[in-house]
Amino acid sequence: MDDYDELVSSLTPRQESDSVKIYQNTVGLACPACDDSFDNLIVCQDEFNTLGLDFAMDICTHVHEGDALLFTHKH
Ligand SMILES: [Zn+2]
Repeated sequence: MDDYDELVSSLTPRQESDSVKIYQNTVGLACPACDDSFDNLIVCQDEFNTLGLDFAMDICTHVHEGDALLFTHKH
């Protein structure tokens, strides 16, 4: 994704650990995968990551420079 840095700079950081960063989409940006507005972007930076989800959501994915990007959509 060419505009990754621009995308992330538009989002609000919510959580950060060594392996996972979570950003909230407070400005209604469109998901690059499905064009619907997404709720959060989860950036997984380790080779393996485990996520616990609080509720059911749809997830779009993208791989950027070896990091897995998860775009979450609540129902
Ligand atoms: Zn999507």
